[in-house]
Amino acid sequence: MKKKLFGNVSITFLLILAALLLYYQFLTQPEINEDVPLPQDLHPVVQENKDMLVQKAAERGIKVLVTDGFRSFEEQNQLYEKGRSREGQIVTHAKGGESYHNFGLAIDFALVNKSGKAYGTLTMTEMAMGNQIGWK
Ligand SMILES: [Zn+2]
Repeated sequence: MKKKLFGNVSITFLLILAALLLYYQFLTQPEINEDVPLPQDLHPVVQENKDMLVQKAAERGIKVLVTDGFRSFEEQNQLYEKGRSREGQIVTHAKGGESYHNFGLAIDFALVNKSGKAYGTLTMTEMAMGNQIGWK
């Protein structure tokens, strides 16, 4: 009996915790902590996964060309202007601070075919690297 009561309390606690987490995730905007310096390069884990991607693909005879990695806020803003205030096609919808690239958490890569032509550009974020691809 006592055990069952404890179980109910635990479930209630978990439900409240889940509700709080959902609230936090969906109703609050991510904030930039100004006390912490912004990254200047790829996160070491992303760097490691990038190297692993290139290597594992090579083992299967696929050549991967990494086309972009870390981007500063300024570089991101310049990219954002492409196709807007500057000529060309729109390449991003993210301004400085809105892209995973700005925090060193994303890479873009293309696959290179046998005649050396790069095709298809893919973006991979740290989340996709760790969770979906499961390289670790
Ligand atoms: Zn990208």
